Amino acid sequence: MRIIETIAEMTEFVRQVKGEGKSIALVPTMGSLHEGHLTLMRQAGKACDVVVASIFVNPTQFGPNEDFDKYPRDLANDSKAAASAGVQVIFHPQIREMYPEGYASFIEVEGITQKLCGLSRPGHFRGVATVVNKLLHIVQPDKAFFGQKDAQQVMVLKRMVADFNMSVILEVVPIVREADGLALSSRNAFLSAEERQAALSLSRSLEVAKALVASGEEDVAKIQSLVAAEIETEKLTEIEYVQMYSYPLLQDISKITGPALLALAVRIGKTRLIDNVILEVK
Ligand code: AMP
Repeated sequence: MRIIETIAEMTEFVRQVKGEGKSIALVPTMGSLHEGHLTLMRQAGKACDVVVASIFVNPTQFGPNEDFDKYPRDLANDSKAAASAGVQVIFHPQIREMYPEGYASFIEVEGITQKLCGLSRPGHFRGVATVVNKLLHIVQPDKAFFGQKDAQQVMVLKRMVADFNMSVILEVVPIVREADGLALSSRNAFLSAEERQAALSLSRSLEVAKALVASGEEDVAKIQSLVAAEIETEKLTEIEYVQMYSYPLLQDISKITGPALLALAVRIGKTRLIDNVILEVK
């Protein structure tokens, strides 16, 4: 497996691969790879001839008081893990390579970014859309793989790809969880044993919502409040949002009449975790 650090070298690699008539899959990540990332990489390998995974902790998607500096970084372990998941190339640029002096262009996806994480993390999706747009231009993949864990991110990127008439196909992979339900996240590494226990309330609360909907409950306010109550059974949790919208349009709803996204953001100590489920009425 190769590690490429410059855009020039990446461009040359892409030219060669395309010249051989091979397809390329891109898996964008911020590293500190776990089974969720590796699942994306394996799926990518089934879909395309060559898998490129990017590892780049993108500064433009972090707010000034967020965890950019302490975000976990471990290229040595990531390289081994990615190779074992069938990745041929890791694209690992330095910040200056992606944002050289004088850099001034950003992608702003409107509307859908004005809710959920877009409200609590101003500028986050501007940074995500910008870096993914750049990666798609550099790697020119046939397909790019993203996790449903970041449900709003997927919707923002789908909007961008459609609006800019990009030919890449975005593939979405279901949330990978630990056996006890905790959604895998690089940020789980920040949790103490006690906090990790409290974090289980997120997936438990999604199960509460699923059971309510399965038993015929349609009232969105009631479901949201019972979900919040489940999370609050753990005293270390601080809810940022518990929110349901129609899916995939993310419109406000008071009753579930079709597919709905239930999304959560919860702080546990200093760590911010997200989780979600798509609820379907039978
Ligand atoms: P990140 O490194 O956190 O930016 O994540 C890189 C990609 O992996 C994103 O598309 C995430 O949605 C995806 N991802 C992260 N955690 C999971 C998970 N538990 N299950 C599925 N995909 C995930």
